[in-house]
Amino acid sequence: MLRSFARTCAASGVFLLFPLFAHAQASSFSIGTASAAPGQKSTGYLQVPAGVDAATNIPVIVINGEKPGPVLALVSGAHGTEYTSIIAIEKLINLLDPSQIAGTVILVPIVNIQSFEQKVPHVNPIDNKSMNRFYPGKADGTQTERASFLITKQVVDRCDYLIDYHGGDLDESLRPYSYWAPTGKAAQDQISKKMVLAFGLDHIIIWRDRPTDLSATRYLDNTSTARGKPSIVVEAGYAGTVETDDVALLVDGTLSTMRALKMLSGSPRPIENPVWLDKVVDVLSDGPGIWYPLVKRGAYVQEAMKIGLVTDYFGKARLEVRAPVSGVILHINAVPSLKKGDNVADIGAIAAHAP
Ligand SMILES: [Zn+2]
Repeated sequence: MLRSFARTCAASGVFLLFPLFAHAQASSFSIGTASAAPGQKSTGYLQVPAGVDAATNIPVIVINGEKPGPVLALVSGAHGTEYTSIIAIEKLINLLDPSQIAGTVILVPIVNIQSFEQKVPHVNPIDNKSMNRFYPGKADGTQTERASFLITKQVVDRCDYLIDYHGGDLDESLRPYSYWAPTGKAAQDQISKKMVLAFGLDHIIIWRDRPTDLSATRYLDNTSTARGKPSIVVEAGYAGTVETDDVALLVDGTLSTMRALKMLSGSPRPIENPVWLDKVVDVLSDGPGIWYPLVKRGAYVQEAMKIGLVTDYFGKARLEVRAPVSGVILHINAVPSLKKGDNVADIGAIAAHAP
């Protein structure tokens, strides 16, 4: 019975339809303390051991599809107060049904647990480091570096594709966008471009010239990209809010991307005419004071246009902040607090040509 089935498949070329992955046979998948047989969902922790500072446990979920296929990693909460991205992954934990999936999904909803619990933006309060700047990490470094090391070994090295989720932090009013980072390797770039279009966010930043040294890749998506795995970054949500529309962008985008990767049945819904941005310019504050924005997230501004004012603590205007380039306000400072060197806005410059 088995033999004749195999012969039929070989003769009709059906074998060619299976993805050419080493793990093409559906089998058990373990990560950290989570382990799932085909058709199962399992939860556990990536256990970051104690070192120069405290140990920590990062929650991980593995959803092992009934059918064989690739491994997709979904990682959020490197910045633990970018809540929309975290809530989107929480929704996907329950939404994804292993009986419908071809392949395996690794979900890491909150990398930076201390940031989330203590409501500290941008960094891990244990060592004051951003948890998306120290990849591929160090086994003997501080907590952020040890966590990054573990994620590189356990998540990046074992996935075929990766999506890193971010958004506006507590002090950032952000409009949704994604990053696509071409590598010059045509086959890989074709897949990552398919992923970013299938995800469907309507503004896409082309992120070129990223570190290629495997020991200094800095960002999670770049760590994955540099190791040959098509990866993208997606951003939605802002300033501590969890809006239904923003969560839906991330959840629906993930499902559409999984369809494009043939991990779910059905057709993806790619964005047809995204705005491609080929440069992001940081606007930094020249001094401390009180910030009064004059434009909202998503506004299109012209070079030299006034986008905000800074006053001293007596109400006297002391700085006018102007757009250094024409483009779209990707995010703008959402709170009055300002110190010298703070990023008051990011402006995305429109690419002359779609890639
Ligand atoms: Zn972030």
